[in-house]
Amino acid sequence: MSETFTSVSQEEAGFRDRVRLSFDLDADICVIGAGLAGLSIALEAARLGASVAVLEGRHVGWNASGNQFGTVMPGFALPLADLIERIGFEDARELWTLSKEGAEFVRANAAEENMPGIGLSDGVLEVSNVDAGDRLISRLQMLNEDFDTEVAGWQADRVRAVLKTDRYFHGVYYPRAFQVDGRKYVHGLAALARRAGARIFEDTPVVSIDHSGIRKRIVTPSARLRATHIVLAGNIHLGAPLRRLSETLLPVWRYAGITAPLGERLHEIIGFKGSVMDSDGVDHFRIVDGDRLMWESPETTWAARPQRFAGLVKRRIRTIFPQLGDVGITDMFGGATGQTVHGMPQIGQLRKGLWVASGFGRQGMNTSAMAGQLIARSILWGDERWRLFSPFELVWAGGATGRVAGQLVGIWGRASSAAAGSLARYRERARAKDREREARLAEANRAAGTGPRRPPSDVRPRPASPPEPRPAESAEPAARERSVSQ
Ligand SMILES: Cc1cc2nc3c(=O)[nH]c(=O)nc-3n(C[C@H](O)[C@H](O)[C@H](O)COP(=O)(O)OP(=O)(O)OC[C@H]3O[C@@H](n4cnc5c(N)ncnc54)[C@H](O)[C@@H]3O)c2cc1C
Repeated sequence: MSETFTSVSQEEAGFRDRVRLSFDLDADICVIGAGLAGLSIALEAARLGASVAVLEGRHVGWNASGNQFGTVMPGFALPLADLIERIGFEDARELWTLSKEGAEFVRANAAEENMPGIGLSDGVLEVSNVDAGDRLISRLQMLNEDFDTEVAGWQADRVRAVLKTDRYFHGVYYPRAFQVDGRKYVHGLAALARRAGARIFEDTPVVSIDHSGIRKRIVTPSARLRATHIVLAGNIHLGAPLRRLSETLLPVWRYAGITAPLGERLHEIIGFKGSVMDSDGVDHFRIVDGDRLMWESPETTWAARPQRFAGLVKRRIRTIFPQLGDVGITDMFGGATGQTVHGMPQIGQLRKGLWVASGFGRQGMNTSAMAGQLIARSILWGDERWRLFSPFELVWAGGATGRVAGQLVGIWGRASSAAAGSLARYRERARAKDREREARLAEANRAAGTGPRRPPSDVRPRPASPPEPRPAESAEPAARERSVSQ
């Protein structure tokens, strides 16, 4: 097996002999989709003793799951403060705990003896584009004390000691978050699921399902399957089996690139070993293969060849780390994530025996693992904790109009965070100039023998600051609500 990030072996890429379902079959659980979600459910259910068949239209990891970064964090795409506001503190805490268990499921699976060359390493740094350290303190307290999550706050100086750029300010360091080779993990997961007894059939698209009876019927072009439970884990590509479900997801294609080797200077400029992501979800990077930079940045709401975005990745690296010069991009990859309108994954039972596990968005590693545990344990043990997701209904994502609106909202969000970043850097420069001015004034006073003079008591010195930005207008997502009934 190859141990580099720049090449994925034939077997890993899904070109080994694939087994297609060519005969009728009975199983306890039929999982549709062999991405992170489908395979996590298959693994957990097979370990708990169920007979499981996974039906995959293309090959294992064909979409996002086989083309992703591999950073594993606790939590969800929906920020914690919004989660608490939506469902209350206690339920938010329980969901957060489940998300941490999901991350630990990945950690246990990704042990080197299970997945040789998976390259698990600890520590993730989330950096801020704006100078808002005061907000950081309450967030750290909440994570540490209320959500039992180990985190450390880094001042801007410490962030800049390991990342030589003035783009980022303070940071939140997660010592228990980790990363693996994201493109290998899904294939390791498939191997573990097979070993646990699950059967995985590739090139086997599901074209329709009949979920009305106790034994449900699943139709593929070459064979039929009967199962007591169907799990829909097809993400945005599910299509015909339950089209209305696909329409609850806004497809967002994400892309990443890997540079040519950059030599020792890379470590002088980036001294942090794990993944770095900015708090606005624009940049996500880490060093791989010793001296290459893996960088995720652009996203679109239409499908495109990842190679098209090599120039964009290159320019983004240059913007953040101009000292690296003109880097070459040797590899590009990407896939479609399914984002829900409310930002939380879709996990639960739609009707008796019909389950959904999708909408994992940009944070699918821990959340899909959590879905696997929750659904398998509910089917086999009667564990009902998936109901914590009930407040997050299936909301229509707006079809084609929703995609355009989603792209606009995304661009708006990124543009406003870019503006906030520029403003923060401007303030910082203004403060530095102010300090220099004061030092020069003090020096001049000393030279003139007058010493520092106090301003009259009713006149206070004004700090140098740029004009305050006008409050941004709120952007309402254009999506309409519609429940997906059966
Ligand atoms: C560039 C990039 C970087 C990312 N980085 C990270 C990261 O660092 N950390 C993180 O947590 N997340 C990350 N993500 C997000 C993560 O990859 C996704 O959330 C996750 O892979 C979604 O998994 P899934 O199983 O739901 O979907 P998918 O990977 O899309 O799998 C669904 C599968 O179902 C199959 N399917 C669909 N319909 C049918 C049907 N009718 N019949 C049979 N099969 C069907 C498809 O062929 C597909 O293989 C990243 C994503 C991208 C694109």
